[in-house]
Amino acid sequence: MKIVVVSPHRDDAAFALTLAVDAWIAAGHKVSVVNCFSRSEYAPYSDADSVHANDRMSFVTALRGREDESWRRQYGSALTLVDLNMKDAPLRLHIGADEVRGLSVNVNDKALVKIQKAVERIAPAAVVLPLGLGGHIDHLTARQSLIAAAAGTTAWAFYEDVPAAPLAEPIEEFVAGLAREFSLDLRPVLIGQASDEAAAITRRRRAAFCYDSQVDDAEVEAIAQFCKVYGGRERLWANQAWLDLSPSLEA
Ligand SMILES: [Zn+2]
Repeated sequence: MKIVVVSPHRDDAAFALTLAVDAWIAAGHKVSVVNCFSRSEYAPYSDADSVHANDRMSFVTALRGREDESWRRQYGSALTLVDLNMKDAPLRLHIGADEVRGLSVNVNDKALVKIQKAVERIAPAAVVLPLGLGGHIDHLTARQSLIAAAAGTTAWAFYEDVPAAPLAEPIEEFVAGLAREFSLDLRPVLIGQASDEAAAITRRRRAAFCYDSQVDDAEVEAIAQFCKVYGGRERLWANQAWLDLSPSLEA
C-alpha cells in the first residue's frame, strides 16, 4: 500500500513518525513524505547568518534538503520525499519566525490546493496529517488542505506535532475539539513495539540528529524521549477507515 505523510516542513515527519514509518516499511508499504513549505531561511543552529541575505534562502533550503535526505537514507527506497517547494510562513507571509503561531488559515492560500493535488497524484491508500498542535500556521494550513476529506471513507490519521508549543489543554481535548469542528470520529492508535522502549528512544534520537540546523542537543533529546509517554511508541489519531485497515498497515 501507499501511505502519504503530509509534512509542513522538512523535519516534522521525522520528529513525529520515525517509528511509524519504520513499522509501515517493515510491513511492506511504500511511504511518501510530502514536504510542503520547504523553502526557508530558518536554521537557527547553522551558520546561515554569515551568508549574504540574498543567498540565505537558497543556502538554508539546500541545507535542510540535505538533512532530510540523510533521514530518508535510513530507510532506502521504500521512503520517497516529495518536495512542493513552497515558502515557509516567514517568507510567504512576511512575518518574523516568532510570529508564526496564533494566525488563522487564509482560505485563499494557494498552498491549500497545491498540497491537495500533490497528495491526489500519489493516490495513497492512507494519509497522515499533522494535528496542528502548537498552532504553527504552516501546520494549520497543511492540515486544512485535506481535513475535509478525512471525514470520508478512505483511511486518515493525524500525528502529534513534535516539538510543539505547550498547549493550554491536554492533547486529548485538543483532538476532541478538532473532531467536533470537522465532524470526525478519531480514535488513538499506538504504533511501535512497546517491548523495547530504549530501542525506540535510540531510534528517534538517530532520526532527530539528522536535523541539526533545526534543533540543539536538548531538543533532540526531548524529541527522542517523547515516545516514552506512550511506552516507546508513537500515537496517531485515526478515523474508522484507518482502524479497519490497521491490521495490514502495522502488521
Ligand atoms: Zn514544522
